[in-house]
Amino acid sequence: MVRIFGFIVAFAGLAVAALWATGFLPGGSSRGAEAGPTPTQVLFSATDVGNVVSVSDALSAGASLSQTDAFGRTALMRAAAAGHDRVVEVLLDAGADLEARSLGGWSALMFAVHEAPSASTALLLLNAGADPHVTDPDGRRALELAEENPAVRGSGVGVRLRELTEWSEELAVLRNGDVFAEGWPSMYIVPIADATLSSRASHLPGAPRAYRNGTHEGFDFYDGTVSVEIAYGTPQRVVASGVVIRADHDYVELDVPGYEALIAEARGSMQTPEDVLDALRGRQVWVRHPGGFVSRYAHLSGIPENVAVGQRIAQGSVIGFTGNSGTEEAAEGTEAGPHPHVEIWQGDRVYLGQGMEPAEIYAIAAQVFGFDALPPFTDGGLVF
Ligand SMILES: [Zn+2]
Repeated sequence: MVRIFGFIVAFAGLAVAALWATGFLPGGSSRGAEAGPTPTQVLFSATDVGNVVSVSDALSAGASLSQTDAFGRTALMRAAAAGHDRVVEVLLDAGADLEARSLGGWSALMFAVHEAPSASTALLLLNAGADPHVTDPDGRRALELAEENPAVRGSGVGVRLRELTEWSEELAVLRNGDVFAEGWPSMYIVPIADATLSSRASHLPGAPRAYRNGTHEGFDFYDGTVSVEIAYGTPQRVVASGVVIRADHDYVELDVPGYEALIAEARGSMQTPEDVLDALRGRQVWVRHPGGFVSRYAHLSGIPENVAVGQRIAQGSVIGFTGNSGTEEAAEGTEAGPHPHVEIWQGDRVYLGQGMEPAEIYAIAAQVFGFDALPPFTDGGLVF
């Protein structure tokens, strides 16, 4: 107990010292020591030392996310520069502005690629939707700044950043001139190792599903269309780090009358009712990612025990096994037609690909999943 108290006192002392050292306290004299630091001052000092609990407490106490220090840096920029990934996540969840700029014209991503000791911070910000194409007053983008940081330059993030930046003009043509598909992430991975997206429009989001008066909301990965073998039980990986928000461990498969009743209900409606659609997705896992994105994995045959609601999982971890749950084949008691079905959502409002033509979906998919995820096109170029 005494030891814990001593630690708290020591920590508080450090925190106050950090406030002065970082030049955050304006003027240094107007606020008496008795008044104590404001929540925003606590937020800055806790950010600098990477204390997630204190950062959360400061936010609860009303700390301002838009407050800047003498260099125009927000707490998010300082966390990004220091490489405190958990703090970055907490600040993003609290609504920190990803695209705010410091007095020097840098975004949080620019600080991360240039200063952070690991590429993981930049990955986190890109996964959250940070725009890698913005420039500082010297015309430098995240790519040029990353060249000066060996931890990022030599990483997979560096490779994807180079690719994303170099192909931006080609992709912009397919996105009505937008160099970056704003509001969408980058540097996700495809859910099946070494797979590509399907080249068939019927496997993409937005494809009509006449049998249920509805529209497909995800990407299907059927054997024979995605460059690797897909079988019942093929493991699926989470596309980005995040927190599990749904895991149907206790899923009970439909029987044939149950399946037929769902289809009949859908056919009697203008469009597939949401509860019917949910049942037709079968056994599912949903994961919430930085930036408020959600990935959904449907038709699973099984889910690893450690994938539980509230659990944090790292990009690439296995989140489930391929199956056919929720389909007619499963209701009939067979293992026929197994396929991963993966959806990417902005919260619960818009799914990736919604209202888009296949060419535009591939152009955004190149940003989100990388160019290696694009199906091999016969003409070998970015002509969809
Ligand atoms: Zn599907």
